[in-house]
Amino acid sequence: EPAPLTDLEIARRATLQPIAEIARAAGIPEEAVDFYGRYKAKIDPARLAPEQSEPRGKVVLVSAMSPTPAGEGKSTVTVGLGDALARAGHRTMIALREPSLGPILGMKGGATGGGYSQVLPMDEINLHFTGDFHAITSANNALMALVDNHLYQGNELGIDPRRITFKRVIDMNDRALRQIVLGLGGPAQGVPRESGFDITVASEIMAVFCLARDLKDLKQRIARITFGYTYGRRPVTVGELGVEGALTMLLKDAIRPNLVQTIAGTPALVHGGPFANIAHGCNSVIATQTARRLADIVVTEAGFGSDLGAEKFMDIKARSAGFAPSAIVIVATVRALKMHGGVPKDRLAEPDLAALQAGAANLERHVHNAAKFGLAPVVAVNRFATDTRQELDWVLAWCQDRGIEAAVTDVWAHGGGGPGGDELAAKVAAVIEGPQHFAPLYDLDLTVEKKIETIAQQIYGADHVEFSAPARKQLAEIEANGLNRLPVCMAKTQYSFTDDAAVLGAPSGFTIRVRELIPRTGAGFIVALTGAVMTMPGLPKEPAAMRMDVDDDGQITGLF
Ligand code: ADP
Repeated sequence: EPAPLTDLEIARRATLQPIAEIARAAGIPEEAVDFYGRYKAKIDPARLAPEQSEPRGKVVLVSAMSPTPAGEGKSTVTVGLGDALARAGHRTMIALREPSLGPILGMKGGATGGGYSQVLPMDEINLHFTGDFHAITSANNALMALVDNHLYQGNELGIDPRRITFKRVIDMNDRALRQIVLGLGGPAQGVPRESGFDITVASEIMAVFCLARDLKDLKQRIARITFGYTYGRRPVTVGELGVEGALTMLLKDAIRPNLVQTIAGTPALVHGGPFANIAHGCNSVIATQTARRLADIVVTEAGFGSDLGAEKFMDIKARSAGFAPSAIVIVATVRALKMHGGVPKDRLAEPDLAALQAGAANLERHVHNAAKFGLAPVVAVNRFATDTRQELDWVLAWCQDRGIEAAVTDVWAHGGGGPGGDELAAKVAAVIEGPQHFAPLYDLDLTVEKKIETIAQQIYGADHVEFSAPARKQLAEIEANGLNRLPVCMAKTQYSFTDDAAVLGAPSGFTIRVRELIPRTGAGFIVALTGAVMTMPGLPKEPAAMRMDVDDDGQITGLF
């Protein structure tokens, strides 16, 4: 057999339709489409037709079991399922996050799917796309330049330079920038202070960008952002600095969703991209709601497993945007099940039913998590070439024994337009038509402490939550500042239900340690940092960048 084509080779061989055609087929009026070249466009939701004013489409969320370095294929299944639903005659739109350059150059890359289930043009989407991340980076860094200038110009607000909580950002994994000293060089250069850089996708500007309902809401949220504290320990907001107008101005084009297409020609909105371990991990509310105005079914994805992206999708995004998801798909692979069952990464290709059995406990907890939001999940077994029929049948039988809907899907190998997606699409379509009982996990009236305990116990399976001494103080400040009604955005490793990345499977009897709480008053949530989660990742010893190249004609290689 010839070596399988890479994602990039498959993408390059696909025939793209002009984006104007995709827009027309999706029912988007011409005046709402702004072209970024032939295959990308921004959509202005304000210019959709009057009969498209209500977001009516049903939302299908694609989540997964706890990710492993083996890769589960969540984006791949999202795209393939969208294609399969479209092929079955449903008016379907896909809503994905935009990829961040940091992981692309570092570990394994983007969020454009894989095999024959990809959004196109994959190289452009994975690199600079329509410049949204640059706009978000600029808005974030404009704020920091304005804050440091305020200190330099006399510091009328009395901002304590040691208590500025906002940082500059860059869309890169760059550990050397984690901690810096700035303003050195004497009185003419500024006020010296310690600070650092976060990755752009961890910025609160990214979070508000993804949660805002429209430009007006975006400006109000930016004004509410707390960037630091005064010498008297009072929180200071962007609104007090008076620059929310300028920051919103920098985002006015970026805030419109980007329209692209899948290999099969299904319309996809790719917009916004907060990380799911250190932010809320879903594409923008504006894109999801725009897709719901245009399509009957919207297939979207939340980062990492049900414990991270999906929990935040339900408790933060869906609640704040005011919609109820209709179905949740949990992506599982035979390889990931074996890895959670104790098989090392280099032996995942060997059949091992005992390890499957042990690893299924991880999948089971994710399935139960979906039920905690009132949703009956559909398990999508993403088939890899090394999976044996016996192993796949074992997983299907395991699901059947527990009354869990499941289908093996081949959308990577054949695309959603092929047979691999039909069964999954049929099962999802049936769930959407069934009775709906969505509810968030916790009530906003609970204290922040109680909310964190609820998530840790109900979703992670923890016994206790332990707050560090600083976190205890921050809980008291949250209460004093009237922020107890905000939802919680947990920052936790994606690899484990615990706060230790090495603990796989479905552990119990553990403690979640909260070391810091950060009120994100613009986004409207409290970030709870657990374990060793970082807001600026580093690059691995052999970065993916070393395999990438571009020839004299501009043809890229090595981008997957
Ligand atoms: P996730 O969204 O879970 O991070 P992706 O959908 O981005 O995963 O897929 C990660 C990588 O794994 C991609 O390069 C993709 O081509 C590959 N992949 C996904 N599904 C399969 C499969 N069934 N067989 C082989 N490779 C796959």
